Amino acid sequence: MRYLSTRGHNAQQTFSEILLGGLAADGGLYLPEKYPQVTTAQLDAWRGLSYADLAFEVLSLYCDDIPPVDLKALVKKTYTAEVYSNGRADDSAKDITPIHWLGDEAGTRLGLLSLSNGPTLAFKDMAMQLLGNLFEYTLNKRGQELNILGATSGDTGSAAEYAMRGKKGVRVFMLSPKGKMSAFQVAQMYSLQDENIYNIAIDGVFDDAQDIVKAVSNDHAFKAQQKIGTVNSINWARVVAQVVYYFQGYLLATKNSTEKVSFCVPSGNFGNVCAGHIARMMGLPIEKLVVATNENDVLDEFFKTGVYRARQSAETFHTTSPSMDISKASNFERFVYDLVGRDPVRTAKMFQDVETKGGFDLSKDDAYKTISQYGFVSGKSTHANRLETIRDIHAKYSVVIDTHTADGVKVARENLQANVPMLVLETALPIKFAETIQEALGRSPDRPAAFIGIEDQPQRVAEMPADVNQVKAFVAKHTGL
Ligand SMILES: *Cc1c(COP(=O)(O)O)cnc(C)c1O
Repeated sequence: MRYLSTRGHNAQQTFSEILLGGLAADGGLYLPEKYPQVTTAQLDAWRGLSYADLAFEVLSLYCDDIPPVDLKALVKKTYTAEVYSNGRADDSAKDITPIHWLGDEAGTRLGLLSLSNGPTLAFKDMAMQLLGNLFEYTLNKRGQELNILGATSGDTGSAAEYAMRGKKGVRVFMLSPKGKMSAFQVAQMYSLQDENIYNIAIDGVFDDAQDIVKAVSNDHAFKAQQKIGTVNSINWARVVAQVVYYFQGYLLATKNSTEKVSFCVPSGNFGNVCAGHIARMMGLPIEKLVVATNENDVLDEFFKTGVYRARQSAETFHTTSPSMDISKASNFERFVYDLVGRDPVRTAKMFQDVETKGGFDLSKDDAYKTISQYGFVSGKSTHANRLETIRDIHAKYSVVIDTHTADGVKVARENLQANVPMLVLETALPIKFAETIQEALGRSPDRPAAFIGIEDQPQRVAEMPADVNQVKAFVAKHTGL
């Protein structure tokens, strides 16, 4: 399998070649030259496979430059019930992403696809844990090392740290805004004692931390000398790892491989639902892909109108589903490339327009008329909707859902079709957003046993002013490069 850039100018690359990089050199995103097709017979043959074996089947189609025995060992090491059993009392942990059926609504079954039982209790662990093992494997093979520099306001940073802890050849330098995260999030990250994980608390807000990362990335000499890399959501390996759970969800929800299933995805940067799009393009019988946004509704607006308008920072809201608070969706270019018939020149033009003119308009374009063929529909949810949905799901089904998942359930309910099961992707556990659960239900969500008392554990963090040079000096001192 070869990979090309959505903007077209690149020499075609293998999976291992694009694994450690971010954007293609022309500013585009990597996609496979074609989507491998999965037949009904193949799907039937995959029924009953363990998650790790299913991951092997799906990933083999994309990572064909990793020897099969090695890939198999990597997925077996990644997808274990032990790693993905947080917060679950029953034995469904063996399915890694079990379905939690809520009940029957509008003539069909409504369920949650549980993606948040990994070490940091959010779906990002599903891909990040694999990435940690893939990085270690590839760096070792090449005799290289990598120093990941990132900024986080919560979810991504902790998922990256838990994925990379103890991995040979990798160090993580994670900037976070001092005093701006919840005590739970702080404890999750700063209590890690692994030698290769460096938490840096910056005097400032998230944007200050992000600006430092950008400044370091723009210093090409420093970046090369210190072997700096990232793990952001445009990384192709993260997207493809997420394709696997659409197959798992489908197989768990159906008895034979002609039935259809719909998925509803709480969306921010479009990474998660992009994986759903790819699964559907591979032939998985997905009826609808429902994109759920919060008040930051740039994606809902696009699917409803054909107009893509990136938001200014002043119009980007801080909401109670904060991991979906985006001004533009960094993975969206992958879908648009397919939508315009894989035309790299048009794609490049449109996404240059996003930078220079703030967006593009496909409302009168033939491409926009074909959107329903891709299964996409969308909807939006607000703080009031979240509270109402959390209360209603709790009252009807005695289940507590997190705020992001609540956005998904709200929009999923607007798109139910008789006899087509609807799976809402559960993207985090409620304990991560306890304040809003308290507001909705008047009580705190349950805390998984592994997290009881984590706030009292010793913490390992360096504190620093928001100063690029001090961060650079800290990185250089610890890499010794
Ligand atoms: C990252 C995240 C999302 C958004 O996922 P995208 O891939 O960016 O669309 C939704 N919910 C939670 C809890 C997240 O951490």
